[in-house]
Amino acid sequence: MKAVFFDFVGTLITKAGENVTHQNIVREVLRRAGREDLDYVKVWEEYENESSRLFKELAGKPYVKIRDVDTEAMNMVAERHGFSVPEDFWEISIAMHERFGELFPDAVDTIKALKALGLHVGIITDSDNDYIEAHLRALGIYDLFDSITTSEDAGFYKPHERPFLLALERAGVEPEEAIYVGDNPAKDCVGAKNIGMMSVLLDPNAQKRDLWGNCDFVVSKLSEVVEIVKGLMESESSRQ
Ligand code: CA
Repeated sequence: MKAVFFDFVGTLITKAGENVTHQNIVREVLRRAGREDLDYVKVWEEYENESSRLFKELAGKPYVKIRDVDTEAMNMVAERHGFSVPEDFWEISIAMHERFGELFPDAVDTIKALKALGLHVGIITDSDNDYIEAHLRALGIYDLFDSITTSEDAGFYKPHERPFLLALERAGVEPEEAIYVGDNPAKDCVGAKNIGMMSVLLDPNAQKRDLWGNCDFVVSKLSEVVEIVKGLMESESSRQ
């Protein structure tokens, strides 16, 4: 075992923090549009529905800028309610992610423990480059990673093999020498499996049981990844 790669949203940062972030984006958009009469939680739910529908269609497909997809989702909701989205919607979005993004409490210790084992620690994420860099810097963890590979770099969205292969290439390791940690069985576990890389599913509340079969390991806490990787390293050295 030579490398561990992480997904970002729902794996290193919490879904709850992401929801708060998106609610604050919608709130700011409504404030700027002078439409604070609208219930921002209701508008946020509509925005989430539109954007998750658009992103489902993009799984495994060629990359298009996420800023454009998110803006399109916001525009659809805005048209429905008769207001316009500010020109600097993406800047608002990045600023709110920087402010409200929330790491899982054991994320930093987990990354540091893996690095202490001498492993390459990287990220493979469906993200725009400006977004992920700003977000990681705001969380204070940008410098912890040996590599960051985005769909923008790879030209495709997960579970397409390209982001995974590009990350391996950057780390200089073979698929069987690496493991991917994610929270989405269909994108993360399947994407890793398709190229012969093992995967760990982070499923804190065991809500994805039906899809566990796609993953090599399932954990409820990020810190469990360290024990899994240690176990894999020990079994490798005993085989030699
Ligand atoms: Ca995710």
